Amino acid sequence: MMTRELPIIAVATAPGKAGVGVIRISGRNLNAIIGALFQKNLLPRQATLLTLHEVDGQAIDQLIAIYFAGPASFTGEDVLELQCHGGPQLLELVMKRCLELGKIAGLVIAEPGEFTLRAYLNNKIDLAQAEAIADLIDAQSEAAVRGAARSLQGVFSTDINNLIEEITQLRILVESTLDFPEEEIEFLESAQARERLKKVSDQLAVLRQGAQQGKILREGIQLVLAGAPNVGKSSLLNRLAGEEVAIVTPIAGTTRDRVKESISIDGVPINIIDTAGLRDTSDVVEAKGIERSWDAIRLADLVIFLRDARTPDEEDNFLRAQILQAIPPRCPVLELGNKADLLGLEVKGTANPETLYISAKTGEGIDDLKARILKMVGWGGAHEGVISARRRHLDCLERAAEHLHQSAAFASHGNISLELFAEELRLAQDQLGQITGKLLPDDLLGKIFSQFCIGK
Ligand code: GDP
Ligand code: ZN
Repeated sequence: MMTRELPIIAVATAPGKAGVGVIRISGRNLNAIIGALFQKNLLPRQATLLTLHEVDGQAIDQLIAIYFAGPASFTGEDVLELQCHGGPQLLELVMKRCLELGKIAGLVIAEPGEFTLRAYLNNKIDLAQAEAIADLIDAQSEAAVRGAARSLQGVFSTDINNLIEEITQLRILVESTLDFPEEEIEFLESAQARERLKKVSDQLAVLRQGAQQGKILREGIQLVLAGAPNVGKSSLLNRLAGEEVAIVTPIAGTTRDRVKESISIDGVPINIIDTAGLRDTSDVVEAKGIERSWDAIRLADLVIFLRDARTPDEEDNFLRAQILQAIPPRCPVLELGNKADLLGLEVKGTANPETLYISAKTGEGIDDLKARILKMVGWGGAHEGVISARRRHLDCLERAAEHLHQSAAFASHGNISLELFAEELRLAQDQLGQITGKLLPDDLLGKIFSQFCIGK
């Protein structure tokens, strides 16, 4: 882990020319560095117009310095912000000079995400909020910005903490009676343990729903198109893309097929991967693309199994089994009968009621298909009130839900074990704690912050 004591420095603004470029320094005590840079002390939270000089006295830049005395700062340490003119060469010179003058105080260039990491380690924000900062900066849509802003304000964290608090209360109750085993049944009744557990589970379910929406908005949906050759995968991809193209990113794969396409349905980003591109190849570039497609399949949120509606169901049994084997365990599969325009009416009447019939050619059934896609991935249709969430959060919420479920089982009639009941509550609590960063494994922390850019 990159937990180090040294003061750090980085350019906080984006590369390129701009009116203003901000350099940020954070450290336990910046008095020595400030003195070395400007030969004076700065009053906290006051903008001061200053000039930074070369060693020979030449001016490098006239800038505005703002000093935040720790702990009342973003990182919780002393923070110095230098608002320079926003030229890349100029900022490099200022950085160089700061590093020279700050050398005695141990000033070093910041690692990616290190400012935010320090804010987290100094309890200025929790982990979900730190992640929300990255999400806010990376947000690709208005809804994603709003979601990240809500999470950064602590909406998500507060919900999590409330749940943890309620579980804690329940645990305290249970654990205080563990020494009196003969009273287990009476305890469950008098403490209304089952009712309280049910309430916590219900709240968790609501939270999972909200987090699922947030994850969908942030990451989009990975939709995989699978099916035999010639059933109309490419036609369906074009049909879906043609109507609602948001960002088109064709990746060169086979000569005829686009392998990947990003569209949006009802404002929800959907990445469609056509498995037609998945085949053995000796072409290095193509192999790379295929590797990426497999990665996408392993992360699929939904698989569309496209069939020719005229083919009898059982003829596709082998392919159906193959697809089910290749996808993640909880990934839903939507079976579609394409080329419905070629079906006689009498055939449709006897067709499998589970199958949705469409025509990539005429557009028949495509609106139904879109609605079905959104429903199957758990999109609730609301952009309002969404929080920013990641797969990591969803996994924790899911595991917490499983432990609560287990916990309930140990309080069920005829199978009561308060010890196991309490233990499952503790495990659920641990999972929730990982979201906000309590009880987080160290390697995970490094992984999360290394995804930040430098200067954040
Ligand atoms: P892929 O190999 O699964 O990607 O299939 P293609 O999209 O390349 O389509 C194979 C053939 O089926 C093409 O000649 C398409 O024009 C035709 N096709 C695709 N969808 C439909 C459809 O809904 N109705 C009809 N009549 N033909 C279709
Ligand atoms: Zn194709």
